[in-house]
Amino acid sequence: MATDDMPGKNEHPAIDPARLRDTIDQYARIGATTGGGVSRLALTDEDREARDLLTRDLEAIDCPVLVDDLGNMRGILQGATALGAIQIASHLDTVIRGGRFDGAAGVLAGLEVLRALRDRDSVPSRSIELINWTNEEGARFEPAMIGSGTATGVFEADWMHARTDREGIRLGSELERIGYLGQQRHRPPIGRAYLELHIEQGPVLDDLRKPVGIVQGILGITWVEITVTGRSDHAGPTPMPGRRDALVAAADIVRAVRTIGEAHGAPSVGTVGRLDVQPNVVNTIPGSVRMSADFRAPTLELLDSMVDRLQGCVDDIASTRDVEIAVDRFWTSTPVAFDSAVIATIEQACDAVGVERIYHWSGAGHDARYAAEVQPAGMIFVRSRGGVSHCEDELSDEADIALGASVLLHAALLLAEDGADDAAERKQPGGSRHD
Ligand SMILES: [Zn+2]
Repeated sequence: MATDDMPGKNEHPAIDPARLRDTIDQYARIGATTGGGVSRLALTDEDREARDLLTRDLEAIDCPVLVDDLGNMRGILQGATALGAIQIASHLDTVIRGGRFDGAAGVLAGLEVLRALRDRDSVPSRSIELINWTNEEGARFEPAMIGSGTATGVFEADWMHARTDREGIRLGSELERIGYLGQQRHRPPIGRAYLELHIEQGPVLDDLRKPVGIVQGILGITWVEITVTGRSDHAGPTPMPGRRDALVAAADIVRAVRTIGEAHGAPSVGTVGRLDVQPNVVNTIPGSVRMSADFRAPTLELLDSMVDRLQGCVDDIASTRDVEIAVDRFWTSTPVAFDSAVIATIEQACDAVGVERIYHWSGAGHDARYAAEVQPAGMIFVRSRGGVSHCEDELSDEADIALGASVLLHAALLLAEDGADDAAERKQPGGSRHD
């Protein structure tokens, strides 16, 4: 690994951008699609190949790899003390015809951090661990983020193993088949801090022309089912006055949801993504519509306020359009604000690398959401060109990823040299933990 023109062993560890680029290219060949993307669904032969490669890459730098009973992999760069570890994590699985960077950029930036430390024979005070979570995407087994969710006590292992894909194949059997059903005692323990680098998957950094963002947290999500009931009539003989057109009321609701999203200001958003119109016939006035609303906001208060505002709009629309409207808020994922001390460390790391501090909320879910329930956590975003992701055109510049990896390296080292008492820093876990 070391070459003569490399800086001396005593200098600060540094990311090797060319090595990181080559590594990302190498992993992108596993499950490569003809359109330049990657199909590497969780626990398929392609996922096994990527996992095997990661195992070899970690063992090549003397980082032993542990696999837990959920298939989560953890490579360990042993620190000088037994203090709680710094965890760097993301995922190697993709959606169908996904991109080369979603998840992989985070795992491979973490691998580059460990390689950079080995280049200098640098032994941090705390161990630094690299985690590859099982089935982050949820593209094969639902729900998403099940490996991190189960490791942090949100789901039970038996329940996770019983999830099936569309062919009815159990997650647990697939873990066994590909050789990644490990030991419960190898589950990642609660560390000192958790860091995740991920591509942004949205256009904000690209619009700002900034390569790297500091993630403040993950937006909370509320899903609402709205049922509009009017009356189906013949589209010809029924005069315009007196119609009870459910779709016209639904159109008002679509506009209201958009207005609510705008009125609450960024990063809050509101979306109607699904309409089911009955009877959906060209010459019949729609009698009923079932539709969804998806609200996202950084606090639960804002989410509640968005739903309250929707209820008010819906009452007005029901009376104006002479229809009945039922609103059912059936699912909420609470917002997660990342740990202020971890964010401050990432800020310091940005300063050290010479990257401007740009703050950002994540509108998408990430494993860091569950990790943050049990330990101080933070995330670093890397610019997505055009904001495109979950498709073959997903693109992040290699220079941006290298900058993000440098921020990750500095943040990990700052945290790894922190000698604070772990017990005082720990959060209460949401469920049972295993070490
Ligand atoms: Zn991802």
